[in-house]
Amino acid sequence: MKQFLLTFMVIIFLSCSASKRIEYKPIVFDEERAELTRAYLLEHYGIQQESPSILPKMIVLHWTVIPTLEEAFEAFDKPGLPNSRPDIINASSLNVSSQFMVDRDGTIYSLMPETNMARHVIGLNHCAIGVENVGGTKELPLTRAQLKANVWLVEYLYNKYPIEYLIGHYEYINFTDHPLWLEKDETYRTLKTDPGKDFMEKVRKATKNLNFKPVPKKTENNGQ
Ligand SMILES: [Zn+2]
Repeated sequence: MKQFLLTFMVIIFLSCSASKRIEYKPIVFDEERAELTRAYLLEHYGIQQESPSILPKMIVLHWTVIPTLEEAFEAFDKPGLPNSRPDIINASSLNVSSQFMVDRDGTIYSLMPETNMARHVIGLNHCAIGVENVGGTKELPLTRAQLKANVWLVEYLYNKYPIEYLIGHYEYINFTDHPLWLEKDETYRTLKTDPGKDFMEKVRKATKNLNFKPVPKKTENNGQ
């Protein structure tokens, strides 16, 4: 009996310590957002389905450039894209977001259900979980606490979903000839540098044991 109790307590402790690392700070995911997400899936990827859900196969790391958690949260919160994004409004009026946001002190926030589609990476949203890191400018480079949190989160997601790729946002363009690339609009591309090569190298080094597939090599037509 004693042993049973001990085992039980260990299980409780382990399950709590995993979920304890993630704080919940949900953005609005109402019927309007669900509808815009379904429309995005259909229009951009030819995927027609009842729910706005994805099967995660990839993790994409980002930086926000926006300097604070609250301001970054505010930018993602509303279902519709604000007028401040004329560069991508023509592609869809679904607001951008990501499933996770990591604050400068390393606190991980879950912003929406992990398997709902977020608009954070062209061509790959239907299979990619996004992780935003607050900061990323010269004045506010990503922190060591954020690096540690990203490594933890990558391992957590790897253990939960059939994740094959870990990429930095700037590497998305290498996937245009890949079977996972579903974007129908050949003119819909943006140039990205986040979350920086240095940060990606460090996260990759720390998660080497997970054996993610290599990012495809860039071909001549990419990024045009
Ligand atoms: Zn990004």
